[in-house]
Amino acid sequence: MQFLTDFVEQVKAKNLYRQTVTYSPVSPAHVQLGGQTYLMLASNNYLGLTHNPVVQQAAIDAIRMYGTGAGGARLTTGTFPLFEQLEQELAKFKETEDAVVFNTGYMANIGVISALAGPDDVIFSDEFNHASIIDGCRLSRARVVVYRHNDMEHLQGLLTATDCQGKRMIITDGVFSMDGDIAPLDTIVELAETVNAIVIVDDAHATGVLGPGGRGTAAYFGVKDKVQVQIGTLSKALGAEGGFVAGSRALIDYIKNRARSFIFSTALAPSTIAAALAALRELSARPEMTVKLSENAQYVRTLLQAANLPVFNGITPIIPVMIGAADEAVKLTAELKMQGIIMTAIRPPTVPVGTSRLRLTVTAVHQREELSTAVDTIIAAVKQPRTTVR
Ligand SMILES: *Cc1c(COP(=O)(O)O)cnc(C)c1O
Repeated sequence: MQFLTDFVEQVKAKNLYRQTVTYSPVSPAHVQLGGQTYLMLASNNYLGLTHNPVVQQAAIDAIRMYGTGAGGARLTTGTFPLFEQLEQELAKFKETEDAVVFNTGYMANIGVISALAGPDDVIFSDEFNHASIIDGCRLSRARVVVYRHNDMEHLQGLLTATDCQGKRMIITDGVFSMDGDIAPLDTIVELAETVNAIVIVDDAHATGVLGPGGRGTAAYFGVKDKVQVQIGTLSKALGAEGGFVAGSRALIDYIKNRARSFIFSTALAPSTIAAALAALRELSARPEMTVKLSENAQYVRTLLQAANLPVFNGITPIIPVMIGAADEAVKLTAELKMQGIIMTAIRPPTVPVGTSRLRLTVTAVHQREELSTAVDTIIAAVKQPRTTVR
């Protein structure tokens, strides 16, 4: 079993070692650790709904009503009443015919992609797509053609140059998780039409964030009818857990009969489904939350750019501060932590070598003053001279 420690030693030598750290969340924007409170600037809890009293109460009520676990897979005995409500309301939210919930966004991606594509098919996939998309593609055994990140000319060239006996699919993150930029879905659907390709978008970071009322990337571009498969998660802006797929009734029926990660796993617990449903209702009732979120994001992005930090233009709450070397990014997160700020160093293999970064995320519930103070601290830390060799 020597390979176990060998591998870990190698990872440590490259500054790519990872470890779980236990935080006690005391609010969506603050965590405690060793008796100290930190400002959380690394969470995907974009609307702070994890600590919304209405959402919390719904989860508690569901435990009392239905118990702590589902006790079975969805197709056997795991479907309790809240599930159908959630799926109907997700479909209404996404303005599609139907929707189905998976246990995680990860499981939605691997289940949906492997159900839709097979060995005769070709999947065109953005190079920066999430790991769960990559794994779904592998599991499908389809041919995977990777196009350069958001490069529509490259995609167009590959679409025409690749011949295919079966189906063609284009798959992309809606909002890219580590860069915070948006897939040009308007162009993607046009290109898809020229070769009759199916379009799949993963809105993990766009749900509750982008488009009118947080309806996602297709709604943002007004192309929802041309995106056949919309995937999302309940675990980020919706503050619960689970993934979902929205689309035509035929699609959802097919997925329920074909996606193995849906079929062979115990359904999510009643408390989780109730929380997701309550969160979705909060979002529908208070769409101004997404406005507040983008205002906070813009506020932070503008301050960082004004100080000449390497931060791209954008409109999403994901604001990467590009650092480059993995060890520098790690050092910076440690320094910032000493100053009361939690931000994650994003390193390979999550991002390409040499593009390590501090990934800053804001939420709708951060206060302006705490953001402003934190940004000053970040600017000072990033700008200080460092001795590390690149
Ligand atoms: C987080 C994420 C997922 C996985 O969703 P989970 O619900 O956390 O499993 C899938 N795709 C993208 C783009 C993500 O960022």
